[in-house]
Amino acid sequence: MSTNESNTEIIGQGVMSTGEDTRIFPDVAACIDCGGCVVACNRTWDTPRDEQRISISTMLEGEEGAEGLNANPNQAMAQGEKPGETSIPMQCYHCENAPCVSVCPVDALVKKDDGFVDVRDDVCIGCQYCLSACPFGAPQFPGANDGSAEIFGTGGTMDKCTMCQERQDVGKGPACAEECATDAILVGTSDQIADELDKRDSGAFFNDEAMEIVFGEDDAEAFGV
Ligand code: SF4
Ligand code: SF4
Repeated sequence: MSTNESNTEIIGQGVMSTGEDTRIFPDVAACIDCGGCVVACNRTWDTPRDEQRISISTMLEGEEGAEGLNANPNQAMAQGEKPGETSIPMQCYHCENAPCVSVCPVDALVKKDDGFVDVRDDVCIGCQYCLSACPFGAPQFPGANDGSAEIFGTGGTMDKCTMCQERQDVGKGPACAEECATDAILVGTSDQIADELDKRDSGAFFNDEAMEIVFGEDDAEAFGV
């Protein structure tokens, strides 16, 4: 399915377009750590309690940022100031240069032509190499016996955010992004996401190296990398 521009009107919120070549990326300045996205994901996909395809990572909890910069952690950090409490929706960003795909010894992870990174769960041997390689903590192992990595099949089967591809196939956005009350989860092409972050004066939270992993060297330039 190609990027579905007609969805732009019906979805709204942080979802600007869906389908081929769209990406999912957080606006960290907008996240208020309400957990709505986590609940939306768990309910939509009926995931087990020990699995979070999306989670909120909160740093400097309870701390105030520098004066005038509380609402904008990126600007605070750019100015060498403490950002204060900052929450980051963490999930699979379906990286352009996906390290998980590179390290998987049995090619259980596939970067597809449409840009989605898929898990072939019948191929995964549960070595958890992908968990070590992913900079964003996205791989989940709900079936692991003790959560530890051992070669040849005792680490469970990798599972992660699918970017709700099944919903996208019928013209809906990812459940997390549609649920988010503050539109902190953006879905669209690299350019749409970069433009939206720019419009909001939010900027990208991750460093240049991480941005190149997620968007690839060329598309990362849209974010000023
Ligand atoms: S490296 Fe992590 S975030 Fe990137 S595609 Fe792999 S699992 Fe997803
Ligand atoms: S746990 Fe599965 S998906 Fe991850 S690297 Fe090992 S075989 Fe590949």
